[in-house]
Amino acid sequence: MEFLRMCLGEPDEGGRRKPIPLKGTEFQVEADLVIAAIGQAPELGWARDLGLELTERGTLKVDPVTLETSRPGVFAGGDVVTGPRSAVEAMAAGRRAAESIDRLLRGEDLREGREVPEAKVPEMDLRGVEERPPERPPTLSPEERRADFREVELPFDPEVAVKEAKRCLNCAGCCECYSCESACEAQAIDHALVDRLETYEVGAIVVATGYELLPKGVLGEVEEDPDVLDPLQFERLLCPSGPTGGKVFRPSDGRVPKEVVFIHCCGSRDPEHHLPYCSRVCCMYGCKLGVLYRHAVPEGRFYLFYMDMRTDGKMYEEFYQRAASEDRLVFLRGRVAKVFREGERLVVWGVDTLSGRRIEVACDLVVLALGMVPSPGTAELAELLGVELDETGFFREAERRLRPFESTREGVFLAGCCQAPKDIPECVAQAAGCAAKVMAFFAKAREGLREVA
Ligand SMILES: Cc1cc2nc3c(=O)[nH]c(=O)nc-3n(C[C@H](O)[C@H](O)[C@H](O)COP(=O)(O)OP(=O)(O)OC[C@H]3O[C@@H](n4cnc5c(N)ncnc54)[C@H](O)[C@@H]3O)c2cc1C
Ligand code: SF4
Ligand code: SF4
Repeated sequence: MEFLRMCLGEPDEGGRRKPIPLKGTEFQVEADLVIAAIGQAPELGWARDLGLELTERGTLKVDPVTLETSRPGVFAGGDVVTGPRSAVEAMAAGRRAAESIDRLLRGEDLREGREVPEAKVPEMDLRGVEERPPERPPTLSPEERRADFREVELPFDPEVAVKEAKRCLNCAGCCECYSCESACEAQAIDHALVDRLETYEVGAIVVATGYELLPKGVLGEVEEDPDVLDPLQFERLLCPSGPTGGKVFRPSDGRVPKEVVFIHCCGSRDPEHHLPYCSRVCCMYGCKLGVLYRHAVPEGRFYLFYMDMRTDGKMYEEFYQRAASEDRLVFLRGRVAKVFREGERLVVWGVDTLSGRRIEVACDLVVLALGMVPSPGTAELAELLGVELDETGFFREAERRLRPFESTREGVFLAGCCQAPKDIPECVAQAAGCAAKVMAFFAKAREGLREVA
């Protein structure tokens, strides 16, 4: 058989580079059997008879949103529209066309709230990811293949299959398997939903956009490590309805951590490097997490490195005392200088400011009480609402002592951590206060209005 070498030309409008023959590169190969991998093209005589428009590439022309052809009421999808593609894409087109047909039969708008699907590749943090080429599956030798019809490409053995699966970056791209829809008992997931702009006319707005935690990476003294957790991750590990059903495991190797260190004030009360203020809730949730951990792992030890304990709520001091005496949490007064890995364990270096001694604790897990900061988008929202932020970036109240629920603009109220870090009882009280303020605001606006019979 005679061959001719090719090079790739410029990409066409579909992005494909066309092969161009290179003159004078002919060569011959002797073969016993020649198999032609025949290309595919749609047979569209019937479409022409129906008067359907075709593209220059000889495929059916459709509206990309509704998949309706040039003839109203006739829809198309799959390879006959896109040219040779995959079964998954054909199924997606089938669903899209089915929705259009359903809307058509109901007399609804075919386009409203729908967009052309766009494949989005999420940005990923590839730090620490080891580059590894794909494994090649074992194959039968040409001599073996010649004589029988056994599969030529053999499966991976279990060890290689696991190794290959570990190359997955878990990029969180959705493959539309709909498993989450069927698993969600509350039926709260609907993959057909798209963003919709809705307009409401309202008399008042309550902002309750909360907080987020500082990222772990901002703390120079703490090495990045899978066993260094933020407090919400640790809370999820302890939660009976969490991903591990309340069983505490180390993320790195799945072992039960026998020694856990909780570090207070990570980024808070550090005006030179991070936040000048106290995040107010972490002393108490540190005690709570310690007590929950000791109940889950009774033989475990829970150390807390603190600067001073802030227990400013009803029964909080009593809870702290019980955590120390009954649940035997170990409170170490001091600042942490460094957290690093040594073999299978993590090591925390600190100074006990009561005894003045240097302390070193080897442990299995470290939990950071990261400072609370305004939730993302707070500055943009403030601009949109025409209200002020204070010097810490949280929403500024009209007057700190006497009007803490009101923003700097009349009719816009503040509830919860969007105003400053606080715990749930305080958020609830502030939300109730806001509701009362809104009612009073409406009552004032209605003053002087007469009911017309
Ligand atoms: C690890 C940890 C443990 C804690 N444990 C306790 C505890 O045991 N007891 C206790 O009393 N307190 C605890 N707290 C504090 C508690 O989490 C907060 O007091 C509470 O969550 C604050 O409620 P919030 O509604 O103000 O804000 P959030 O809980 O932060 O809720 C704000 C919501 O607004 C949404 N949002 C943000 N921006 C926008 C926007 N622009 N548009 C629409 N939505 C938006 C967010 O997605 C979020 O759902 C804990 C905190 C942490 C970090
Ligand atoms: S489970 Fe849900 S979110 Fe995850 S891939 Fe399947 S459909 Fe997408
Ligand atoms: S509440 Fe406690 S741990 Fe949190 S910042 Fe204040 S002092 Fe530090």
